[in-house]
Amino acid sequence: MSQNKKFVEKVTAMEDDFGQWYTDVVKQAELVDYGPVRGTMIIKPYGYAIWEHIRDAIDQQIKETGHMNVSFPLFIPESLLQKEKDHIEGFAPEVAWVTHGGDEELAERLVVRPTSEALFCDYYSKNIHSYRDLPKLYNQWSNVVRWEKTTRPFLRSLEFHWQEGHTAHATYEEAAEETEKMLNVYADICENYLAMPVIKGQKTEKEKFAGAEYTLTVESLMHDGRALQAGTSHNFGDDFAKAFDIKYLDETGKEQYVHQTSWGITTRLIGALIMVHGDNRGLVIPPRIAPTQALIVPIAQHKEGVLDKAYELRDQLKDVVRIDIDASDNTPGWKFNESEMKGYPVRIEIGPRDIEKEQVVLVRRDTGEKEFVKLADLAERLPALLEKIQQNLFDQAYEHRENMTTVATTMDEFQQTIENKRGFVKAMWCGALECEEDIREKTGATSRCIPFEQEEVAKTCVSCGKEAKELVYWARAY
Ligand SMILES: [Zn+2]
Repeated sequence: MSQNKKFVEKVTAMEDDFGQWYTDVVKQAELVDYGPVRGTMIIKPYGYAIWEHIRDAIDQQIKETGHMNVSFPLFIPESLLQKEKDHIEGFAPEVAWVTHGGDEELAERLVVRPTSEALFCDYYSKNIHSYRDLPKLYNQWSNVVRWEKTTRPFLRSLEFHWQEGHTAHATYEEAAEETEKMLNVYADICENYLAMPVIKGQKTEKEKFAGAEYTLTVESLMHDGRALQAGTSHNFGDDFAKAFDIKYLDETGKEQYVHQTSWGITTRLIGALIMVHGDNRGLVIPPRIAPTQALIVPIAQHKEGVLDKAYELRDQLKDVVRIDIDASDNTPGWKFNESEMKGYPVRIEIGPRDIEKEQVVLVRRDTGEKEFVKLADLAERLPALLEKIQQNLFDQAYEHRENMTTVATTMDEFQQTIENKRGFVKAMWCGALECEEDIREKTGATSRCIPFEQEEVAKTCVSCGKEAKELVYWARAY
C-alpha cells in the first residue's frame, strides 16, 4: 500500500498547478524525456506509439482523399525562403541557420525547414506545365525546426513531427474546396479518434498563416480552460504561385497561375490529448488510438495456473483488441497505478478465484467502474466496452467545453470571465485589428477563430461598440 501511495504522489494535482501536473504526467507516463539541446524532446516508446496511432489514422484519410506521400529535403536555401515576402517575415525570427559544411563556410546560408512551402513551390514551378499536371496532391511526414523561446514537451518544442500537405490546383475554387476538405479530415480525427470536440472556423487576418490568403482552423478546449489550435488548413490563392512563378497552360492554351493550399497537424495533438482527457491519476487515452487498449493484470500470479491462464487469455483476445499483459514481479497495486498512469482504457484482473468461476474483472480507466465478465463473453464485451469509453470521453470533453463557453457582450463581462473562469468567450467583433489587440491587452485572450456556425449575440463590437461584423471565439491559448 505504501508503495502505491508513493507512486501516485509523484503527480501534482491539476487543481493545484496545472502546468506542473502536465509536466509530471508527461514524465511519469514515460512519453518524453528532454533532449540535450534546450527545448528538444526525446519521444519515448509509449509516446511514439501513441503518435503512430494518430499518424496512421490521419495518413489513411490523407490517402483516401487522393493524396500521395513524398519526402522533401531538410534544408532550404535562403534565397528560396526570401521569395514570398510575408512568409519569410513570419518565419525569420524562429529559423535555425546552417552556415558551415564541415570547416567550410557556405556560399549561401541554409535554413533548417520550419515548414516546406518554399521547397514545394520551387519544385512545382519546375514540374507543372499543363492543366494535365493538375491537381498536385502531395503530403509529407517530417520533422521541422522552429527556434522557440519558451518550450514545453509536445506543445512547443524546437523540433516537432508533423505532416504537411502541399497541393496545387487549376482554380481558386478547387483550392478553396481542398482547404475545407482537409479541415474536415482534421475535425474528424480530433472528434472521432481523439474524442476531442473542436470548433471549426477561420483565423482572423492577424492570426492567419504567414503568406496565406486565409487560414481555417479547428480549435479545442483544454481541461484548464485554455484553448489549443489542433490543426490548420491554408488557402494561398495564387500568391505563392506568383512569387515562385508556378504557371500552367490551360485547355485553351492560355497561361495561368496555379492556386495552392497547405495543411498540417503536429505532435502537439498528444499534448492536447493529455490536457483534454487526463486526470490526477495520469493519462486517459481514447481507445481508438490507444497502443494498449486492455492490460491484463494477473492477481496472485505465483499461484499455479494463473499466469498460464492470463497468457491464454491474451492470445485469445489479441485479434480482437490491442492487449498486453503485465507479468512483472511488481505488486498488483503497483500495476493498477501504472496502468492508470499510462491511461490504458481497460484493465483486466484475473486471479485464482476468477479462474474458478471462469470470469475476469474489467475496470474502466475513464470511470473506474468494475464489472465481472464471463471468459466466454469477453471477445464480445471488450470491443463494446471500448466503444462506450470512446463515446464517454467525447461526451465528457464536450460537456466541459459547453460549460466553459461564455457569451460576453461587454468588456467587463469579457475580463471577468477570462479572469475567473477562463474557457471560450463568444463575443462580437467589428473586424478591426485595433479591437483585436485591445482585447488581447486587456484580457490576455487571442481570437481563436471566426466560427463557421455564426450567431448574433449582440449588435455591437465588444471592444469599440461600433457595428459588429461577426462572432468570434476568444480564449487564452497554448
Ligand atoms: Zn471594434
